[in-house]
Amino acid sequence: MSLESNQNGKRTALPVRPGIAGDAPYGAPQLDVPYQLNTNENPYGPTPEVIETITREVTAAAAGLNRYPDRDFTRLRGDLADYLAKESGVRLAPDNIWAANGSNEVMIHILQAFGGPGRSAMVFTPAYAMYSEYARDTLTDFHAVPRRADFSIDLEAAARAIEELAPTVIFLTSPNNPTGTALTLDEVRAITTAASRVDIGGAPAIVVVDEAYAEFRREGAGSALELLSEFPNLAVTRTMSKAFALAGGRLGYLAASEQFVDTLRVVRLPYHLSSVTQAVAHAALMHADVLLSQVATIRTERDALVSWLRSQTYQGKSLEVADSDANFVFFGRFEDRHAVWQGLLDQGVLIRESGPEGWLRVTVGTPTEMEAFKNALVKELGL
Ligand SMILES: *Cc1c(COP(=O)(O)O)cnc(C)c1O
Repeated sequence: MSLESNQNGKRTALPVRPGIAGDAPYGAPQLDVPYQLNTNENPYGPTPEVIETITREVTAAAAGLNRYPDRDFTRLRGDLADYLAKESGVRLAPDNIWAANGSNEVMIHILQAFGGPGRSAMVFTPAYAMYSEYARDTLTDFHAVPRRADFSIDLEAAARAIEELAPTVIFLTSPNNPTGTALTLDEVRAITTAASRVDIGGAPAIVVVDEAYAEFRREGAGSALELLSEFPNLAVTRTMSKAFALAGGRLGYLAASEQFVDTLRVVRLPYHLSSVTQAVAHAALMHADVLLSQVATIRTERDALVSWLRSQTYQGKSLEVADSDANFVFFGRFEDRHAVWQGLLDQGVLIRESGPEGWLRVTVGTPTEMEAFKNALVKELGL
């Protein structure tokens, strides 16, 4: 018997908060098709070796599941600090690291700690759609400042917007989703300098650089981790969901000053990171080298896909393709992008309708998956 049939004659409306009334839950379609190229996952599953380590570590954690986990996940913060030192050459202490169930939760912690009523967050669009939801969920006002037509940020316009709107939190995504565009360290520095001039009760605005795709950046591009020692109001977020091939493990993290991290500790729920999550992430980090070797393959595949798309003529013009430092490629423009998306889906290839009208985003997968995508696109567009 369903609940509803028992509730006859009762008022069925719920007192939903006005800010979320009528909103649909966020999420890309999860369709069971042969080629899933829509959520920027790593196409390579864990190797048998990695699975074995994860199993061993989770088994060890299972024996202690009657106890709450280490609330401060000290071992994992050390692992993450070691990984960042190896990946980007920036040596941080465990106290500079924070983590949660995906970087999505880290962002919520940031706005719970620094946003809230009477405060605002700023992003540069097109941007990852979740930022506005974090703002909505934390009762933080939200400002979207458009990027240029080539998806770069106009630094002067950004500085003006920051001065006029005085946001408390500025999100910079580099490489950006859905466009793939990376910011140079000089660009991050310029925006953080503008943020440093904002006065919020005597404190500067904070800048959060979302580096979810950092490991895919092209040779020579820096990480904002290198700027942490210059700016106390800067934080960098990363995730194990993309390059690390651990989307199902739910582990995102942040690097910032100890004071910044201590502020996030105030708003987190107690024991938010389960013993199982901590064990899985710890195990995966032991195999960072294996996992990252696949990143090189994906970058090569990405660069080949960008070149291939640019060489295609559609309706008398070359396809437009944004430069990508990520594991996806943003391309267009189509009069009816939904029709193109649907045409690919009908051939078993699921990509993403994202960002401005006319553009589509495809995740870089295995060579086989890329072949399937290209064949489907050729057929759909008559290339
Ligand atoms: C995928 C993605 C994330 C990561 O989310 P998780 O919660 O760590 O899985 C964060 N930011 C951007 C821009 C992303 O595209």
